[in-house]
Amino acid sequence: QAKRNGKGRYELFEPAMQERLLRTLDLEADLRRAVERDEFVLRYQPIFDLRDGRIVAVEALVRWHHPDRGIVPPGQFVPLAEETGLIVPIGGWVLREACRRAGAWNAAGRPPLTVQVNLSARQLQEPDLPELVTRALGDAGLDPSRLVLELTESQLLDDTEAMIPRLGELKRVGVRLALDDFGTGHSALAYLRRFPIDMIKIDRSFVAETERDLAPAPSLASAIVQLGRTLRLVVVAEGIETPQQQRRLRDAGCHLGQGYRFAAELPHHEVEALLTGGAAERWR
Ligand code: C2E
Ligand code: MG
Ligand code: MG
Ligand code: MG
Repeated sequence: QAKRNGKGRYELFEPAMQERLLRTLDLEADLRRAVERDEFVLRYQPIFDLRDGRIVAVEALVRWHHPDRGIVPPGQFVPLAEETGLIVPIGGWVLREACRRAGAWNAAGRPPLTVQVNLSARQLQEPDLPELVTRALGDAGLDPSRLVLELTESQLLDDTEAMIPRLGELKRVGVRLALDDFGTGHSALAYLRRFPIDMIKIDRSFVAETERDLAPAPSLASAIVQLGRTLRLVVVAEGIETPQQQRRLRDAGCHLGQGYRFAAELPHHEVEALLTGGAAERWR
């Protein structure tokens, strides 16, 4: 009987598949509830000036504080949030919360700090995104130049012709735009000039490579740094884990970096401690 109803139907009754389906539905219901109950928290990973060790920015990274599962990292729920569209309200909250925090940090009279927020493709498609960003900045009292929105190459290549005016609208708000995980997507080289991008973030796979190339041959990371400098882009290295990686990137002319060598993603009060505690001396 089951077989006559077609292959798809038959598969649904395989226990493994059914279990997976139920687990996904379960997670989806949980995620909807999480949006209503504000179960998300932000961690902030400092971005350092590799020349003098100052903290110049922080990247906001979302976590789901699940009542039973504990802290759930973005890799385990952002894909589902994107599929279901729940990333739109979640991402809106991330934007407001990150701006609010950065606004408060900048009101404390220290050297200005930039906050970087990751955006999903779904958010970029929302017509009111520029308004949401403007409002988040206004409510937080944060200068637009102190917000960087991080996008990935694949997001931009999905619908290139529509993306260019979209990014233009965001630029008119006054924020800066970064290409995240640079070098891992379909190459956006030809588009780097057409998109109003301000910053590239070298993916940590290239950063890890600088450790291995012990010969003086230039690494891909240093080639990316050169490319960025030629195009007058700010270059940030992601995932710096060792002093050697730090040294090699700095010597290649990369001015900014983040990674476990310096600091992991931290709760906001630990960022505050770093900001007031003169982190600079430690990383020179
Ligand atoms: P990403 O934007 O490339 O963020 C960097 C990731 O690398 C973070 O993982 C961070 O914890 C990790 N990382 C930082 N330093 C090091 C290091 O030295 N070594 C290693 N191995 N890893 C390091 P996380 O927080 O799990 O985030 C993963 C991804 O989830 C992010 O990658 C980003 O694409 C996405 N994501 C995070 N927060 C948000 C958000 O608010 N909205 C959206 N749409 N996506 C987000
Ligand atoms: Mg990022
Ligand atoms: Mg990245
Ligand atoms: Mg990423």
